[in-house]
Amino acid sequence: MMVYAVGDDAVIIDCGLGFPNPWHHGIDLLIPDISALSELGLRLHAIVLTHGHEDHIGGLPFLLPQLKLPVYGTPTTLGLLEGKLEELHYKGDLRPLPELEPIAVGPLRIEAIPVTHSIMDAVSIAIETPRGYIVHTGDFKLDMAPLDGRTTALHRFASLGDAGVVLLASDSTNATRSGSSASERSVGPVLKQEIAGCRGKVVVTTFASNMFRIQQIIDAASANGRRVAFAGRSLERNSAIANRLGRLSIPSGIMVDIRQCKEIADHELLIIATGSQGEARAALARIAQNQFPGIRLGEGDLVLFSSSAIPGNERSIAGLFDHICRRGARIRHAGQAHLHVSGHGQGHELKTMMQLTRPRYFYPVHGEYRYLQEHRNLARQTGIPEERIIIAENGQSVVIDDRGIRHGKGFHAGAIFVDGQARDEVDTMVLRDRRTLAEEGLITASVIINANEGAVIGQPELTARGLLHQEVREEALEEARTKLLAHLEGLEREQLTDLEFLREDVRIWLRRWCKRALQKRPLVVAVVIGI
Ligand SMILES: [Zn+2]
Repeated sequence: MMVYAVGDDAVIIDCGLGFPNPWHHGIDLLIPDISALSELGLRLHAIVLTHGHEDHIGGLPFLLPQLKLPVYGTPTTLGLLEGKLEELHYKGDLRPLPELEPIAVGPLRIEAIPVTHSIMDAVSIAIETPRGYIVHTGDFKLDMAPLDGRTTALHRFASLGDAGVVLLASDSTNATRSGSSASERSVGPVLKQEIAGCRGKVVVTTFASNMFRIQQIIDAASANGRRVAFAGRSLERNSAIANRLGRLSIPSGIMVDIRQCKEIADHELLIIATGSQGEARAALARIAQNQFPGIRLGEGDLVLFSSSAIPGNERSIAGLFDHICRRGARIRHAGQAHLHVSGHGQGHELKTMMQLTRPRYFYPVHGEYRYLQEHRNLARQTGIPEERIIIAENGQSVVIDDRGIRHGKGFHAGAIFVDGQARDEVDTMVLRDRRTLAEEGLITASVIINANEGAVIGQPELTARGLLHQEVREEALEEARTKLLAHLEGLEREQLTDLEFLREDVRIWLRRWCKRALQKRPLVVAVVIGI
């Protein structure tokens, strides 16, 4: 999510979501914390979307009802967003974003410029300012022969460069790779060839948003006389959107409902499945464990990974590979054959973008720090002087004025944790508790008090989970029980009748005991019941 302001008038570009790290227990999604947005003193006029990937639109179902701004996007992008908003029964003010045709957004003028990427209808955004154009590339590559013939509008980037680009904010994802990315088109023949070598069922997994890839998989299946079934809700949903927009060309009679697969001979069947990242609930994980109704994976079958591993998912994918191998099926992945290309431009493409736009200032965006740094090095190689390049991380503003480019004031820009199933926001306290539970376990104490007399009734009750080895547990808890009772009996009557005080006192006592006696810091829950 980026905010561009010309004076006080501003637009938001993209509003994505992130995925959790292993220590974000039970968290499914991270969305931008926009609490600082109102403190910036800007007049926000719209959200403008570059493309429909989750990390660019996924935050909107959560934040749009709060932001209440019109959203501009190209057909595929809006189609994907509409689907997400419908699930929440929220409509939103969605407006078409024409290409190569400036539109007024409040007092600002913006223009969408077609670029190629691993999703249909991706655009860069140009914003007019009194100092020249701001060009925000969004995710892009320079695919010179895109499957849909919708090429990157190189001529427009060049003419913006002629008119004067004050700032180029460019995609850094593949800045550490030299040369150029291969065309999406180059994957097709390899898919065809791999499928031809299989006598059994073929399962192909890929990113469900890449309709170019889906098209090529369908074409490869068709060339090999196979029918195609989709396994996975997001595939069905996304292909329905692309179909409705007339962007998929599906040979008639080739598609078959996944529930009818068992009626088709293995050598005449190809299944496109979600779950290339090893997601536990996705179709491929279930197929790999023979848990998907009507599909049995076995000897002679082939699973093609037309995908790459998103960093952090390697272990889940390795687990998925094991399941597939146990079924006796064969795996082919992008490390063995040219089954995948990236959607992000590499060194040569990034430098081409700089040369076309010839920006006064350069701002590498979208990527971890080392990618931003590498992108800066590329910019210097194209002749942009060091002092005209700026790197800013989340929560850091960048100012361009008569004095040049520099960091402006910082602001709070954290993430909100979302527990996806409940669609609830989870605060950092909950997250801390979950982490403690996972790493240190749980101990609880309940104490019953005669609230009138200030006397302990019976013995405190202690239970522990995930904390102590079974053999030592009873002994340790017995010791704690005796000592806690002695501690309680040493308290004043006044303290024993103040249940709120007592609860905190028991909690602290137990926490200290765990630390001293067990050298552990579990989550401590104290329950005090007054009768
Ligand atoms: Zn993208």
